[in-house]
Amino acid sequence: QAKAEGRDRTRFYDPEMDQKARDYLRTQRRLRHAIETGGFTLVYQPIAHITTDNVVAAEALLRWHDEIGNEIPPAHFIPVAEESGLIKAIGEWIINEACRQIGAWQKAGLFCLDYVSINISPRQLIEGDFADLVAENIRRHAIAPETLRLEITETALIENFDKTKRLIDTLNAQGIKFIIDDFGTGYSSLSYLKQFAFSALKIDQSFIRDILHDPKDATLVRAIIDIARQFDYQVIAEGVEEDAQREMLRENDDAIAYQGYLCSQAETAEAFEKHLHRKCG
Ligand code: C2E
Ligand code: MG
Ligand code: MG
Ligand code: MG
Repeated sequence: QAKAEGRDRTRFYDPEMDQKARDYLRTQRRLRHAIETGGFTLVYQPIAHITTDNVVAAEALLRWHDEIGNEIPPAHFIPVAEESGLIKAIGEWIINEACRQIGAWQKAGLFCLDYVSINISPRQLIEGDFADLVAENIRRHAIAPETLRLEITETALIENFDKTKRLIDTLNAQGIKFIIDDFGTGYSSLSYLKQFAFSALKIDQSFIRDILHDPKDATLVRAIIDIARQFDYQVIAEGVEEDAQREMLRENDDAIAYQGYLCSQAETAEAFEKHLHRKCG
């Protein structure tokens, strides 16, 4: 009875919508609480050379543990943070924390990586003075600008093309480089590739997942690597879980980098330190 009503979308009162709205508000309230009480941490996933397996870089990923210690996945709360505008405060925390950690590793003489990358939401790019925010944090923690890279998606680029272009140019001039994340999944034309100076392109894990069994995915991955090479971008293959996937990628190009559970999941800063100066396996 109740179920049948839930499916009836023409009714004025839609319990399913109501539940969604309540979930949204609840997550928003808890996010606000987490911002005030420091409920976030960054974890670090190694990015390794496809041939040598040396860890060359890391991606910082956000983790949120709620009041009772449950981990809430980014896919669940990042959209809420974006929509509600809370991403601004959370994003400021992320930039500061990543720069602080890079600085701490540098001071300890541990930082042998090319860079640590952080994910930037579209809304962060267009609200407030993002370039100033990044510059301030680089200065505050006295890190080299090349050691922090910013990951953005194609969609973020296209949504606010002019403003984003100015931002990328400004930050590039200060030595801060960008990576295109989830490449190949956004709504975009390839023409933007020639208008920006990116440092690297991340092949989305959806192309890697079936690379061994789906010849079309294998073809797409080869094509993406080709384009990246022509534009002088580094390549990172995301979501590599099996040795055979790494082998196949290596046969395409022996100089790309990869990221995935085969090498390691994202780890706390402390646990990540074992990768510094070490091979992956
Ligand atoms: P992303 O930036 O594309 O990050 C890669 C995601 O793939 C991460 O999930 C990572 O844990 C996962 N992953 C890595 N290797 C493998 C693998 O071999 N197999 C599989 N199945 N997954 C793998 P995570 O941490 O849950 O993050 C999901 C998304 O949430 C990120 O996708 C990013 O869009 C967003 N996100 C995470 N942290 C932040 C952040 O600090 N700021 C913003 N704005 N977004 C973030
Ligand atoms: Mg990313
Ligand atoms: Mg990605
Ligand atoms: Mg992704």
